[in-house]
Amino acid sequence: KQKIDFGWKLENSYAQLPSMFYTQLNPWPVRSPELVVFNDTLAAELGLRSEALKTEEGVAMLAGNNIPEGTAPLAQAYAGHQFGNFNILGDGRAVLLGEQLTPQGTRYDIQLKGSGRTPYSRGGDGRAALAPMLREFIISEAMYALGIPTSRSLAVVATGEEIARETYLPGAVLTRVAASHLRFGTFQFAAFKGEVEDRKALADYAISRHYPELEAADNKYLAFLQAVAKRQASLVAKWMSVGFIHGVMNTDNMTISGESIDYGPCAFMDRYDPATVFSSIDEGGRYAYGNQPQITGWNLARFAETLLPLLSSRQEESIEMAQQALDGFIQTYQANWLDEMRRKIGLFSEEPEDGQLIKQLLGIMKEADADYTNTFRALTFGTVAETVLAGTRPFNEWNKAWQERLSRQTQSAEEVHELMKNSNPGVIPRNHRVEEALDAAVQRGDYSVMERLLEALAEPFSHKSEHQPYTEPPADPDNPYKTFCGT
Ligand code: AMP
Ligand code: MG
Ligand code: MG
Repeated sequence: KQKIDFGWKLENSYAQLPSMFYTQLNPWPVRSPELVVFNDTLAAELGLRSEALKTEEGVAMLAGNNIPEGTAPLAQAYAGHQFGNFNILGDGRAVLLGEQLTPQGTRYDIQLKGSGRTPYSRGGDGRAALAPMLREFIISEAMYALGIPTSRSLAVVATGEEIARETYLPGAVLTRVAASHLRFGTFQFAAFKGEVEDRKALADYAISRHYPELEAADNKYLAFLQAVAKRQASLVAKWMSVGFIHGVMNTDNMTISGESIDYGPCAFMDRYDPATVFSSIDEGGRYAYGNQPQITGWNLARFAETLLPLLSSRQEESIEMAQQALDGFIQTYQANWLDEMRRKIGLFSEEPEDGQLIKQLLGIMKEADADYTNTFRALTFGTVAETVLAGTRPFNEWNKAWQERLSRQTQSAEEVHELMKNSNPGVIPRNHRVEEALDAAVQRGDYSVMERLLEALAEPFSHKSEHQPYTEPPADPDNPYKTFCGT
């Protein structure tokens, strides 16, 4: 039989870590794999050959039935604070196939999610349902197009098996692509289970993989902590700017690379309200929209604790250093958030009152139940008259202050409009649109609704008139949307 070239260039650098960090095992085969979505653009970026991966043998690889030559798949061990409670976890339903080296020389984890039981499965079946895997595909690719660092989705394969949840659901395997799957929780695992040497090995690995420029730093572990804090500050500011609610910001879902990961119960906010929560299990609102920066800080504190023995041999000094890094996070976050929001209202220059101006607008939006995304679109296109803010006194007053502020910068109205167009997405993955696409795919086997949604989501800043239907808020905004994780 002729050998097919899939374009795999897989390495297993993670397996050089101490063995406590993983268990080598293959995915469990599935009954009858069927490729339902494939990301040709991403495949090309990875140096993978789409046509080859779409053959029976290729699809078998994306299902875990067939292992690419020369790689040794593994499940990663990690721990994490889940809703504030510390647990030992690990890939309970995923395996890392290997790390793909792209033609540009970049290294990406290739992970199969829903690939069957592992030693870390605890009570779970190791499987994933089709709808949530399609949902992760849609949202991660939307995030990417929005310019937000994120894990990506290469493919979804339906397994032809049913999995038992509250009811029986069709199963699927998602191929997830990420800069790595190193998590805050990987460090917590090392701190809880290992020696200081294990933490050091993990930190050195993370630095070489994600922050190689820090290798020469005076105190590279402190520089590492600061760099992770900086990337997380930038990430959460971007989430806030587009109204993204992650939904399950457990420390095992926070990456060292600064990419968003784990799209279980996430969703985008429609009407602006910092208390917005979609996740059915987040009863206390711990991971509400407005809490995300603070929770990131809390998570960073848990991460910083794991690095204390590496920062300095003197404990008080380590604590002092960690404290400063966490203070730095808050400042960097606030600066990043201001940068994001200034752009959304067309500000090129900086004035001390800008934060106030933005917060006033948000306050007005909250009072009026205004749609978050569409308010900024309306400001961009001068169509506020078509929104709930039309003619209201608070908005008129704000608008006057905003116009005065705009007049104090040198850029033309045209330049302001361009900046706002590029900073305010038209199309986001609105919950009712995502549900509509998932229903068509899962209930009727019709993937065309999802394909069209993906096309619109790929160009959030193009503001094309044919994308108009995707910009409409849900018909019944009072019917609260619920998301679920663990399916
Ligand atoms: P998550 O809520 O997706 O961040 O997952 C939390 C933990 O639960 C991770 O260790 C997962 O691997 C594990 N897990 C989630 N679903 C399953 C499942 N169906 N079978 C086994 N483990 C699971
Ligand atoms: Mg997770
Ligand atoms: Mg998950």
